[in-house]
Amino acid sequence: MDRTVGLLGGGQLGQMLCEAANPLGVKVVILDAENSPAKQVNAKASHITGSFTDPEKIRELARQCDILTVEIEHVDTHVLEEIAEEGIEIQSADGKTTRKKVQVQPNWKTLRTIQDKFLQKEHLAKHGVETAVSQAVESDKSGLERVGKELGFPFMLKARKDAYDGRGNFPVMSAQDIPDALEALKGRGLYAEKWASFKMELAVMVVKTSDNTLAYPAVETIHQDSICKLVYCPPRGISTHLQEKAQDLARKAVGSMWGNGVFGVELFVMENDTIILNEIAPRPHNSGHYTIEACPTMSQYKSQLLSILDIMPSFPGNKIPSLSPATVMLNILGGASKTSHNALVQSAVATPSAALHMYGKESKPARKIGHITLVAQTMAEAEKAMNPMIALADEMRM
Ligand code: ATP
Ligand code: MG
Ligand code: MG
Repeated sequence: MDRTVGLLGGGQLGQMLCEAANPLGVKVVILDAENSPAKQVNAKASHITGSFTDPEKIRELARQCDILTVEIEHVDTHVLEEIAEEGIEIQSADGKTTRKKVQVQPNWKTLRTIQDKFLQKEHLAKHGVETAVSQAVESDKSGLERVGKELGFPFMLKARKDAYDGRGNFPVMSAQDIPDALEALKGRGLYAEKWASFKMELAVMVVKTSDNTLAYPAVETIHQDSICKLVYCPPRGISTHLQEKAQDLARKAVGSMWGNGVFGVELFVMENDTIILNEIAPRPHNSGHYTIEACPTMSQYKSQLLSILDIMPSFPGNKIPSLSPATVMLNILGGASKTSHNALVQSAVATPSAALHMYGKESKPARKIGHITLVAQTMAEAEKAMNPMIALADEMRM
């Protein structure tokens, strides 16, 4: 593989991407802070120290690679547009200035549309994908009171940009919460979403190639305080038909985007079994970590690489199967002290069917610092083995 990939962001998703790139012989150059998790596992290239929001650093990265991709959507898309459309200036050995073509995958239009959650929802509505009813809001008391009347209480107030792990969401239970909501999300562009009384949350990883989309299995996700805690594959207690509907909707949503790559699609299953879309991530996703063990020859990270390199193989029925009958993934979040997670880590190591992934990040309360994936022959067996670890995770929660 002679093409070099440039990666904006070097967190745990970038780390697992590099782990998938190594056996493929793909060189990945990373732009992020010194010693970020992805850099810790990748000595193949000399990396760039800086921020993935800094246009000059992004240009420096572009000069060293053939394809740019992301592990986070909160990047500067204007400089990515410039690089994709005009190329990047480079100095040749004889001092001449030339322009080099660099691809941006997925396309900057996809990143720009998705990174603003309200724009994303408008785009999806236009393409016939149902989401929670969303509306623009005036960020003041009377504006939100009007939203309360129109959407009803509770509603979810959301920051349009820079949201992750629920940091950007405020559930407005009644008109009394409005001042607190405005204070919590002060200074950020906002929109409001009708409350979705879902009975289950699902997620589907989708790979977009230049002429197709491929779906991984639907998984059940469990969030606590808006942070993903657990993933179950297959989802518990919903029909195969509904799982296929989720895969079809996720493929349709990703099919409306531009460029190649892997996407995480978050969905709500409503009481009447209709499925609506929550949001899309244009990159590997927490709900797809399980694919490292459950799809050992085609993890979500390998798929991101093969799709952006445009060498993704095809799969029967456009579905990438799980090779594990039952899989459960548990996130490890930092606890009150730097060592709170030790008992959980020891328990994972002592469980032969569990795979431990620690990211090399400093532990801070509620920060994602690792995860555990457990594979089994049946879901009952998987739950039995995972439940003691869930209990340990609950004990260390802040
Ligand atoms: P992520 O880390 O997935 O990017 P985020 O900060 O972008 O998270 P969302 O995905 O918008 O946040 O919401 C986080 C969680 O909050 C959802 O998974 C769901 O549990 C809950 N949630 C979001 N929107 C709604 C809604 N309209 N009604 C009810 N619950 C919601
Ligand atoms: Mg999000
Ligand atoms: Mg989300």
